[in-house]
Amino acid sequence: MAAELILKEGREKSLLRRHPWIFSGAVAEVRGDTDKGGEIVIRDAKRRFLARGAFSPESQLAARVWTFQENEAVDASFFERRFQRAFELRKAVFGGTLPDACRLIHAESDGLPGVTVDLYGDYAVCQLSSAGAEFHRAELTAAVLRYAKGAYERSDLDSRIKEGLEPRTGPLGGEELPETIDFTENGVRFRMNPRTGHKTGFYLDQRCSRRAVAEAAAGARNVLNCFCYTGGFGLAAIHGGAEHVLNVDSSAAALELAQENAGLNGIPPERFETQEADVFQFLRQCRDRGKTFDLIVLDPPKFAETAARLPKAARAYKDINLLALKLLSPGGKLFTFSCSGAMEEPLFDKVIDSAACDADADFRITGRLSQGPDHPVAANFPESRYLKGIAGIKLGTL
Ligand code: SAH
Repeated sequence: MAAELILKEGREKSLLRRHPWIFSGAVAEVRGDTDKGGEIVIRDAKRRFLARGAFSPESQLAARVWTFQENEAVDASFFERRFQRAFELRKAVFGGTLPDACRLIHAESDGLPGVTVDLYGDYAVCQLSSAGAEFHRAELTAAVLRYAKGAYERSDLDSRIKEGLEPRTGPLGGEELPETIDFTENGVRFRMNPRTGHKTGFYLDQRCSRRAVAEAAAGARNVLNCFCYTGGFGLAAIHGGAEHVLNVDSSAAALELAQENAGLNGIPPERFETQEADVFQFLRQCRDRGKTFDLIVLDPPKFAETAARLPKAARAYKDINLLALKLLSPGGKLFTFSCSGAMEEPLFDKVIDSAACDADADFRITGRLSQGPDHPVAANFPESRYLKGIAGIKLGTL
């Protein structure tokens, strides 16, 4: 018989709303034996069935739900069905065919906590971040290989340590991946490196925002792309008609690939410059030199890993946004993002409001941006909405 996890009285409410996490503080008792990541049946204090999940004894998240169906076995066919459902969703949102590079599995949002699968052409780059995902490595690999000729694992994640797992990278199955993979996004060509790139190699979640920047960039004389990584927003801006982009990042390796990407798109180097710098310092230097830009993108890394880091993170977000708003020419456009899940939209709005106020900028929000449809938000899992973006214009004086 499967092991059982019995919740404390009254702690079943979130599960009844189909939230897939069980915090260790909600657990009254675990009965029977199960391996780390193995199956556990979750029951309320009256022993009524709630869900089947994966047990994670070393984590604050004692279990994550695989299924809310009592008679659904968590076996190879379960994973195949979850992948099929995820694939159908992508087909539905992308007009029948998946783009060249696309997230196939977005963890909880696809009913697979701890599993990320990104497809780049014929290949997959995967992350297994939870004890449950690790336990089902073989079934998950088999499911991935129905959609890719070869899969590489990038589970070099701090989150694995919280689950009592070692970070892990290397071939997952199928054909060996080439050193780099080329793909097209919104008509722009990109090259990514599955072994050394950030996350799975590319920030696929910004697909729609990069398109929005391309649309807004027509006629922009100069664009400043901060935290540019491999140049995604900068290339989109040139594609949309910007005359010149300055791309800033602290990673020399990312900038090298950004230049390579510019070359792939036949962009002359004088229109696409890169600079290795700390964005905080760089923006200050621009301010001191009186530089202005027609369009600025701010797509920083996650400043707030947890809610406890929010106050410090809010100050950092305000700092870069205030400086960027000062540097915008009248009528200039700002695209600013926060990928910190802990920072919810109302707080991000407040940060931007107070940055505009202190920059003495008359700022109008003209659009709201979020992660692309291959990173769907699960209605039962609000944590899956992590990426927030604001597009706006700094009005000139009349
Ligand atoms: N906009 C990118 C993704 C940005 S990821 C895209 O569309 O692909 C965040 C980037 O910020 C990383 O490339 C990281 O190297 C860079 N970074 C982090 N801290 C930085 C800092 N203080 N100054 C400059 N770059 C920084």
